Amino acid sequence: MDTRGTLYDGTTAYPHAVRVGLLSDDRIVVTTDSGHSQSVPLDQLTRSGEGGSTIRLGRSDVPGWRLLLEPPIAPDLLAGLPGSGRFGGWIDRVGLAKAAVGFAVIAAAVLAVGYSAPHWIAPHVPLSWERNLGDAIVGDFGELRCRNPEGQRALNELAERVEPGVTKPGERQIRFAALDVNIFNAAALPGGHIIVFKQAIAETRDPDELAGIIAHEIAHVRRRHVTEALVRELGIGALVRLFAGGIGANAQQIMALRYTRANEAEADADAIQALRRAGIDPRATARLFARLGNDERRGVALDVEWLESHPASRDRAARFAAAYRPAAKTAPALTQQQGDELFNVCWKGPRKVRRAPAPR
Ligand SMILES: [Zn+2]
Repeated sequence: MDTRGTLYDGTTAYPHAVRVGLLSDDRIVVTTDSGHSQSVPLDQLTRSGEGGSTIRLGRSDVPGWRLLLEPPIAPDLLAGLPGSGRFGGWIDRVGLAKAAVGFAVIAAAVLAVGYSAPHWIAPHVPLSWERNLGDAIVGDFGELRCRNPEGQRALNELAERVEPGVTKPGERQIRFAALDVNIFNAAALPGGHIIVFKQAIAETRDPDELAGIIAHEIAHVRRRHVTEALVRELGIGALVRLFAGGIGANAQQIMALRYTRANEAEADADAIQALRRAGIDPRATARLFARLGNDERRGVALDVEWLESHPASRDRAARFAAAYRPAAKTAPALTQQQGDELFNVCWKGPRKVRRAPAPR
């Protein structure tokens, strides 16, 4: 038995009445009433949802190609068609089962609590979705990426000092990048990326201060604060489109996301714990916050994360200072040489020398 349907071939606007049948176990054949036929591999068919009892199919290799199947649909054909969960490229890449689970969980979350529970939704967004987005943003920075290999290695070593294993490949890997942009900032991006801007490297007085920044950003990643902010500020619909690549990943927009005060407080508390475990003196971070609190000159765009926190800088300084335990053993976050390498991460010319560390 053949199934009746309508074909839009993607080239002309005219619908063609067609008969559709299973040609073999991996192809269908579509024959127009004028006797023209084409065979289409089943694995190139995508199912784009149902309109009533009509089944709508697309072809992953031919944009605009649409085939509408009208009931009754031959059982053998129906059995061969892709399941209705098959929406095309990006979901296939992240794995259909995972994506379907993700969708179901998010849909359930949205139904249950509306858009107002980013904190609840964020842990259920598959990391693999975020990875593509984060990779795209970091890719967008292109030439601004500081590529001095010794400097990059030192940046990774600093991160490893704060959280051992953090740069190792795997589910929990975080990738660190330095950017040649003259602002004092650092940011966590979707998908386990942390970027540190040049001034944050060049104007911290020593790597111990930068360790505090890194520990704080790692906490934002670990607690899924980035995802939470995306859900809160863009809404779940825009978020899904972002992951699907439907709207361009706009670095500026994503970097302008704001965390809640509760997020910031959590990240600071986690950072203090991380510094304690790592044996890094938290007073360095306290000094950094104290300086940021005093410094009025820095009013540049993109300064969201570290500069919007101005009003609270003194409080934050006090928290880190209070975390110091005289009896606890601490050691510099990096060796002098590593610190120098890191300082030079954004310079292509002759090496520069870091100014003398601040007195303790
Ligand atoms: Zn923060």
